[in-house]
Amino acid sequence: MNKIQIIQGDITAGRVDAIVNAANTTLLGGGGVDGAIHRAAGPELFRACLKFNGCPTGEARITPGFQLPANYVIHTPGPIWRGGQFQEAPLLAACYRNSLRLADQSQCQTVDFPSISTGVYAFPLEQAAQIALQTLETELQMTLFVHRVRIVGYDAHTTEVYQTCLNRMISSD
Ligand code: ADP
Repeated sequence: MNKIQIIQGDITAGRVDAIVNAANTTLLGGGGVDGAIHRAAGPELFRACLKFNGCPTGEARITPGFQLPANYVIHTPGPIWRGGQFQEAPLLAACYRNSLRLADQSQCQTVDFPSISTGVYAFPLEQAAQIALQTLETELQMTLFVHRVRIVGYDAHTTEVYQTCLNRMISSD
């Protein structure tokens, strides 16, 4: 739990080994955090993503960070919330698990995540926070390189929901 922090800010500003992008399955950019990351990284990121021919929901792919301060971008398409009966929860857990494993395989020590799927994809925020933090906590017991993960909330409410969830996990430890 002491490896996880919650901060508020713009994920594109992070001076970390890798930032995670809440992408879509085309990996060719979109709105929200995806658009912000592509704008900040420059057009080379789009060209690098073209080579993947897309990515299934819950999996992850890695590219350089190009013009970003981060060395790498890990792209993971989150699930679109469709009421909760379409594997949304395990798919969201897979996004965090596969992204963290890929970061570790690439010898990253510090990784920043956005709140995957809780924007346009409408995953309920409290449930998403619980899945994100529980999955990261479990996976961080097995990483060889990653020793600090931050969830970067963009707005105050998102940041607060993740912080409250983390505090609850710490106090029930
Ligand atoms: P999704 O399609 O997975 O729901 P969105 O980009 O719509 O992805 O939203 C995911 C989260 O990322 C939302 O909480 C949104 O406010 C946040 N977000 C948007 N821009 C940024 C940014 N530059 N840095 C960090 N988080 C961001």
